[in-house]
Amino acid sequence: RAKSSQRGEHIVFTRAMEIEMKERVRLVQGLRTAFNEDRLFLMYQPQVRIDGGQPVGVEALIRWRADDGRFVPPDRFIPLAEHSGLIVSIGSWVMRLACYEQVKIAAAGFTNMQVAVNVSLAQFRHPLFIEQVREALRDTGAEPGRVELEITESMAMEDADFVADKLNDLAQIGVKVAIDDFGTGFSSLSYLQRLRVDRLKIDRSFVQELCTNQRGRQVAEMVIQLGRKLGLAVIAEGVEEVDQANMLLELGCQEAQGYLYGRPMEPAALYAWLAERRNAT
Ligand code: C2E
Ligand code: MG
Ligand code: MG
Ligand code: MG
Repeated sequence: RAKSSQRGEHIVFTRAMEIEMKERVRLVQGLRTAFNEDRLFLMYQPQVRIDGGQPVGVEALIRWRADDGRFVPPDRFIPLAEHSGLIVSIGSWVMRLACYEQVKIAAAGFTNMQVAVNVSLAQFRHPLFIEQVREALRDTGAEPGRVELEITESMAMEDADFVADKLNDLAQIGVKVAIDDFGTGFSSLSYLQRLRVDRLKIDRSFVQELCTNQRGRQVAEMVIQLGRKLGLAVIAEGVEEVDQANMLLELGCQEAQGYLYGRPMEPAALYAWLAERRNAT
């Protein structure tokens, strides 16, 4: 009967929700413990010039290996960190550590490389965010112009006046700003013109479709043209194949990040990777 099946569905639904809720609570507790016990760490993925492969930067990516040895992906735990408020302290720790890595990379002789740091919405909105950035720079001695903060396109579109203000503050500090996952939102030329940003990151989904369908290519082309019109640098993320790299070059995109060049690496592996590139040139 319709009635009982409706009830049945209702029960199944709430049980699934209950399981998911318990899992989330468990994850947040695990995350808090991991953070307090210093068991989160950062990996760094190279960013290169497509033509010649010269390293130009790295993106810091957070990692959490849970007690059972398995990695919990950041796409899973960052949203939980946001909702629980943990992101403010985790984000501040990420910023400081990434700034410190900029100092070390420069000390290793790669003085022109920058370090990119992902910033989440709750962190960006926090009243002490700008102060956090200043502090991280001051405490580590990082060069502001070699630190790039990545905000997503959806974050950039949240509240125009607020975002424009924050980006002006960041520009004053001297750090760079990139818009991550670009092409997934709907920001317009006129909107972007108001924002003090330095670079656009073409979202991986379009790079994946670059050589297989029209949409990927059209969006990539649009982002590259938008970048050119606004005088912004453009980088493609998630480049895995030579064909994609060639297509990007053809469309006028100079820089890329992706498995084709290097996976996210722990610092030791990163420095070995960098040393190889230095010896090659
Ligand atoms: P994102 O900032 O767009 O980072 C790029 C993601 O694409 C990373 O996933 C990276 O490992 C992955 N990737 C890079 N190249 C390739 C490729 O060629 N193929 C494929 N399939 N994937 C590639 P990851 O590390 O799992 O991070 C996922 C997301 O989690 C990030 O997306 C970012 O939004 C967030 N995230 C990571 N670290 C942090 C952090 O420290 N703070 C904050 N707030 N968010 C972070
Ligand atoms: Mg990013
Ligand atoms: Mg991205
Ligand atoms: Mg992404």
